[in-house]
Amino acid sequence: MGQLISGSALAQEIQAEVGHDVLMLKEAGVVPGLAVVIVGEDPASQIYVRNKVRACQALGMYSEKMELPVSSTTADVLSVVRQLNRRDDVHGVLVQVPMPRQIDARAVLNSILPEKDVDGFHPVNIGHLVSGNAILKPCTPAGILEIFKRRKIELAGSRVTVIGRSDIVGKPVAIMLLHEHATVTICHSKTRNLPEVAREADILIAAIGKAAFIDDSFVKPGAVVVDVGMNRVDSPERTYQIFGDDPQRMEDFQRRGYTLVGDVNPVKVLPVCSYLTPVPGGVGLLTIAMLMSNTVKAASFLSERRVADSARR
Ligand code: NAP
Repeated sequence: MGQLISGSALAQEIQAEVGHDVLMLKEAGVVPGLAVVIVGEDPASQIYVRNKVRACQALGMYSEKMELPVSSTTADVLSVVRQLNRRDDVHGVLVQVPMPRQIDARAVLNSILPEKDVDGFHPVNIGHLVSGNAILKPCTPAGILEIFKRRKIELAGSRVTVIGRSDIVGKPVAIMLLHEHATVTICHSKTRNLPEVAREADILIAAIGKAAFIDDSFVKPGAVVVDVGMNRVDSPERTYQIFGDDPQRMEDFQRRGYTLVGDVNPVKVLPVCSYLTPVPGGVGLLTIAMLMSNTVKAASFLSERRVADSARR
């Protein structure tokens, strides 16, 4: 029977280290600051942004939420980002996606100063990621790598299969694993014989967006399984189909009217794997911890550069 890896314990470890770095920066007169821009009122985005702002506050960092109306244009959002780029008290700038359809999301994300791009999505930072020199790495992939590092899961020489090839999870995590000397296979919706390919992996990472899609037929006995998926299941029948009469899940469903399910079916996969990250309470918590870590790195880098610039003048 596999064990669950608690994202909450790992996130606390990382946050304690980040908290220490925040104190050091404050002693040097720098308060790390994160600005989060949200356009419109998408309920899921509102929750994500609230959690990010709260995490900053808990670590004694400065945070600012900039709310723009749903009718905003690309020019409106670009203007806000440019102001934030110029501010010395803001070290990290994050624009929450998805944005309303009329906004050119790529243009907005590309307008963030690469040194303040704490999401790590700017082409300059992706370039650094590919060449192995990135300081600001995408938060969810970076959180996944922390799981392996902190739980001493061997990557060098291991066979890792990543299911999903998105720009925010699948591709960057595959590149980061390659730098750790893993043998990486990336799968997607056109991959033939997917369960067979997945079963070759010592480590399986699922970033698909389909509730409980991965069952035991995808998992080699003893493999490590990382579940990135975050899917709302809002029918009691489907919840029962996945979790049987698990009282905790049924209670969660009754209370919220839905339950959060990963891309992995934990009931089927736990008996086969060695480790599994749970949903909720797994990768998602690490994503926020890595955002805090990136903000502190950006603050450190920008303040050192400012000191060097003024010494040169
Ligand atoms: P995405 O952009 O929708 O990409 C999904 C990927 O899965 C695509 O590459 C797609 O293949 C592949 N896929 C879809 N159906 C498949 C199938 N039947 N067989 C094999 N591959 C399939 O998703 P994402 O943004 O990476 O997010 C994935 C999941 O992670 C979502 O549930 C999301 O909510 C969650 N997420 C969680 C966090 C966190 O912090 N926990 C962060 C980000 C995302 P094609 O490319 O061929 O279409």
